[in-house]
Amino acid sequence: MNTRGTAAAASAQTRGEPRRIGVFGGAFDPPHWAHVALARVAIEQLQLDELRIIPTGDAWHKSRDLTAAHHRLKMAELAFGDLPRAVMDDREIKRVGPSYTIETLEELQAEQPDSELFLVIGGDQEAVFRRWHRWQDILQKATVCVADRPLQNPSFARAPAANQSAVLVSGSSPATNLPQRVILHLPLMPVSATAIRQQLAFQTAPEGAFSGELDGSVPDAVASYISLHGLYQARPSPNSSSTE
Ligand code: ATP
Repeated sequence: MNTRGTAAAASAQTRGEPRRIGVFGGAFDPPHWAHVALARVAIEQLQLDELRIIPTGDAWHKSRDLTAAHHRLKMAELAFGDLPRAVMDDREIKRVGPSYTIETLEELQAEQPDSELFLVIGGDQEAVFRRWHRWQDILQKATVCVADRPLQNPSFARAPAANQSAVLVSGSSPATNLPQRVILHLPLMPVSATAIRQQLAFQTAPEGAFSGELDGSVPDAVASYISLHGLYQARPSPNSSSTE
């Protein structure tokens, strides 16, 4: 695991305040620019000491098989690697059984009892939050922080400019479902991993000639990794089982 949180830990201790730890989970299949932007906004607007980037292991809530965990972990390292205070955390892909967020929060709280936890999600996940395993317990452990997402949640109020502070909102609405949440100000970003996978599966370029087919929706290093390993393409690639 990356240990870049060490400096932040020292600064929180110096302030004599609880460490502010963000938790950002996802399939990251693949990680794209909206993921990176959301992570950056969360770190800044929530004034986090660290943001745990946690690729899911067994995604109980996704109906399809995910790409092999080692590929998703590596792509996440490439995508989030330059983000200050982002810390890769591979606990969910090492865990046997379903990846339940509540178990991750309980583990983090046990490891760092004096910390304050912030769960970072997109608006599509907020809309289905009450289907999450032990969602009431999650609300006891962490502050849920939500960024608007286009299309999936059209009735959600449009997010203001990204340079604003996060704001705590009380009161439920049919679209959001939560009694209280923090709104993160992320400009609407119409990108999804599903669309990226579909784009790659239907591309017609000869194998090995992949270049720029993603319209800049993933970081360059992620695009290179996808190309190198032939991920998401309709035809199997001889490199697809390699880890580097
Ligand atoms: P898929 O299309 O395969 O479902 P995804 O693009 O939703 O994938 P995930 O890895 O499932 O990506 O998402 C991880 C987290 O990032 C979730 O909380 C999701 O709501 C959030 N997220 C993903 N894309 C966006 C986006 N464009 N805007 C805001 N939040 C997003």
